[in-house]
Amino acid sequence: MPPWPRRPRLVAGNWKMNRTASEGAVLTLELRALVTGPACEIALCPPFTALAAVGEALRGSPIHLGAQNLHPEPRGAFTGEVSGPMLAALGCRFVIVGHSERRHLMGEDDALVARKLRAAQACGLTAIVCVGESLAEREADRTAEVLVRQVRAAYDGLDAAAARSAVIAYEPVWAIGTGRVATPADAQEVCKAIRTQVADKYGEQVADGLRVLYGGSVKSGNIAELVAQEDIDGALVGGASLDADEFAKLCALAAGGPLP
Ligand code: PEP
Repeated sequence: MPPWPRRPRLVAGNWKMNRTASEGAVLTLELRALVTGPACEIALCPPFTALAAVGEALRGSPIHLGAQNLHPEPRGAFTGEVSGPMLAALGCRFVIVGHSERRHLMGEDDALVARKLRAAQACGLTAIVCVGESLAEREADRTAEVLVRQVRAAYDGLDAAAARSAVIAYEPVWAIGTGRVATPADAQEVCKAIRTQVADKYGEQVADGLRVLYGGSVKSGNIAELVAQEDIDGALVGGASLDADEFAKLCALAAGGPLP
């Protein structure tokens, strides 16, 4: 066993814009049948249209339901949007905010991500706040600067309890969906820097309780060495979460348990 106290590991599957409601229910039931041994905490984040069906397929299971996005306002004239209270009413426990695809393809900025984090917390959802540098930023040696800015903006004005209860996912943009994964040592270095930034602001106790995930081409073949790092508490998983066998294996390896 590692010498440091472990935070409960979390693996969240981000299905992105994949699976209809009925396809999502089938995938969920396949996964449920495979997740039988000791597991880490698991969350499935299907598209909005599949939330109800996946939630139904998860009924009675320890696997949590999560969403991929929310609007910062609880209700109102925002055509096409979905709010935190709507997600909570569907049984969601988690919601992803600030995913790089939303930052880069939908123009979400740090201020909007911060508002979404607060909106999630206001209705009892655990926000998985995504941060990460682009390839150009990494090559320009700006990784630390970008990460500090993103974490500072998201956490601006949050109290200690709110800071600790969020989850931060470090997702280098160049590693998402590309098959290129950060080395465990590189991912550890950045996740540790994120924890240190939180410790500087809120103290060691808050930082020690904060879960920091890695995301970017995580698979069953690389999860074990990632979660073996002191400051990596699990993973945000895209592509590999769409295959029940692969995702169940990945979750078992993240938990350090036997393979399904
Ligand atoms: C993601 O969507 O957050 C992600 C990390 O995707 P992938 O695992 O496919 O790289």
